[in-house]
Amino acid sequence: MAMANNKTHCFTCNKEKITFRCEGCSKRFCFMDLAEHKQILNDELNHIINNYDQFKQTINERKQNPSLIKQINQWKTNSIEIIQQKARDCREIAIKSSQTFIYDIEKKFNNLSDLK
Ligand SMILES: [Zn+2]
Ligand SMILES: [Zn+2]
Repeated sequence: MAMANNKTHCFTCNKEKITFRCEGCSKRFCFMDLAEHKQILNDELNHIINNYDQFKQTINERKQNPSLIKQINQWKTNSIEIIQQKARDCREIAIKSSQTFIYDIEKKFNNLSDLK
């Protein structure tokens, strides 16, 4: 009876065996399945560690590459410069063309005056 009390169902194979508790997930496994469970956890852990290492590397690359921010700032400065220059050009053209327009009208008025 004492032996039977020690036996519980293994989480993996569901057989009534002497089981061991996994400290990680608190589930009980028979000796064989505990080993496999540990292996699976190990693989998952390695996978997570690999992902973490890759993530860390990406972060480090970003940190070592603040030139991206500099590039964006430079692009912003250049764009503003170009827009301001275009605006100046357009303003100049607008002023000149309205001056020419007024001059033309003035000339035509003068010509009309001459006809009198
Ligand atoms: Zn089992
Ligand atoms: Zn576990």
